[in-house]
Amino acid sequence: MDYERIAELLFPESKEGTEYYEEKYPPRDLPEGAKVTRLGPSPTGFIHLGNLYGAFVDERLAHQSGGVFFLRIEDTDDKRQVEGAVKMITDSLAFFGINFDEGAFAEGDVGNYGDYTQSHRAPIYHAFAKKLVAEGKAYPCFLTEEEIEKIREAQEEAKLTPGIYGKYARDRELGFDDVKANIEAGKPYVVRLKSTGKPETEDGRRIKVKDAIRGILDMPENYHDVVILKKNGIPTYHFAHAVDDHLMRTTHVVRGAEWLPSLPIHEELFRQLGFELPIYCHTAQLMKLTPEGNKRKLSKRHDPELSLGYYREQGYHPEAVREYLLTILNSNYEEWRAANPDADIDEFEFTTEKMSNSGALFDLNKLNDVSKDTLLRIPAPELYDFLYGWAKEYRPEAENALQDREYTEKILDLGRHDQKPRKDFICASQMLDFISYFFDDLYKADEHDELPAEVPAEDVPVILEKYLATYDHSDDQSQWFDKIRGIATELGYAAKPKDYKKNPDQYKGHVGHVSTVIRIALMGRSQSPDVHAIQQIMGEEMVRRRIGAWSI
Ligand code: GLU
Repeated sequence: MDYERIAELLFPESKEGTEYYEEKYPPRDLPEGAKVTRLGPSPTGFIHLGNLYGAFVDERLAHQSGGVFFLRIEDTDDKRQVEGAVKMITDSLAFFGINFDEGAFAEGDVGNYGDYTQSHRAPIYHAFAKKLVAEGKAYPCFLTEEEIEKIREAQEEAKLTPGIYGKYARDRELGFDDVKANIEAGKPYVVRLKSTGKPETEDGRRIKVKDAIRGILDMPENYHDVVILKKNGIPTYHFAHAVDDHLMRTTHVVRGAEWLPSLPIHEELFRQLGFELPIYCHTAQLMKLTPEGNKRKLSKRHDPELSLGYYREQGYHPEAVREYLLTILNSNYEEWRAANPDADIDEFEFTTEKMSNSGALFDLNKLNDVSKDTLLRIPAPELYDFLYGWAKEYRPEAENALQDREYTEKILDLGRHDQKPRKDFICASQMLDFISYFFDDLYKADEHDELPAEVPAEDVPVILEKYLATYDHSDDQSQWFDKIRGIATELGYAAKPKDYKKNPDQYKGHVGHVSTVIRIALMGRSQSPDVHAIQQIMGEEMVRRRIGAWSI
């Protein structure tokens, strides 16, 4: 038969039949219902929020069901490779708590279903391409770029979809002798699938594919003779996806919605290869609301928050990012969290049915809110480790200031155990800024907030002198505040804000304005946690020094 002879001619080196690989990579021995998922990044060194979002789905599906989550490096496009990319990918994901069970790691492969790097799998792809050719389901195509361009022009003129299919697929039925002559003449070729489909206009069928997020997808079947092996023998994404996900026994393919249009190609490839179709999970694009209120895709160029590096540089806690991603991944997550405020995030039962299919809205303000709640749940010693670790890497100038663990932990815990706990912290960079006044090395005395307009400039040194003169570090909260009240009344300020409100003409201002002057002298801010508590942490020496520096 010609087909078999052509197959042998194209792949003389491919001796192992596909049965060999089927046996080598048998169905996985996993409990009923266990899901096998994978992440297939290209080694470009850029891993973004969209990847993390998808990886999170993969990870949850696999680990929640007692299945396997593996990493496959999709490097068939050799223009886009970057040294050290694999380590970067696994490190970035591990930072956010996403760990693989098997796959291609910087130290080498782990698992029985490898090799996990596509560029190392040429013999496997060739075995399956050879089988398709031998069965008359694929063929070598010798069309040149110019010939393809001419076909496209003719199709455009006839208002037809461009592509190699039907009568345009010139080399579909080339016999053995022609193929041999072309090869001997050194003509380059690709291997194409011989599609059995037809365009809808010619009674093409519709296919139904199960998508765990979108339900049953009803689409026109593929009819293009798509390329499965490029001229250099390297597979296209389509072919590698079919062969790899079959042999690696992937049960759920989680990938971006940009792959939806290719799904009919994959459906046909799996069918022609005799493989069972995995369950697809096409995730929604990450969108962002513009200031004008429109939705648009997050873009690498315009949105720094798309890069995972952004969260590490800003010092978002990985727990907060995970927590936030779950709020956009599953519509019932926030309700669950409200009912289970202290539960481990992994106790939440993640489901693909509760995922949005129409664009997941990413909102930094919302992340910040979620982050405030998440950080409140983290005990001060852990928060200290996190902040210190971050500062060491991203703010080395602050490392020294933060050396004193006991002091810093007290600062971090300030007001967090109150009836209505303070939620001051969002991320490490903001935390460091927020607490900077506690550290002489970080405090910038000249960058203070504006003094209250109610206090005339000449009153400022008087208030501060009096404050220093009466200051007793052992005063409790009410003794301390009584003294401020005393200073206020002495200088013509109301002892209570409501007195001032009632009779504004009788006073310069009220006790709040006087204490704001003290606050600003002490820490440069007009807003802060409780001043008495802050002074107790700062210690008497720092309090006297700060106030003293202002009262001259
Ligand atoms: N390498 C593909 C990508 O980066 C993977 C898509 C998939 O998961 O199938 O888009």
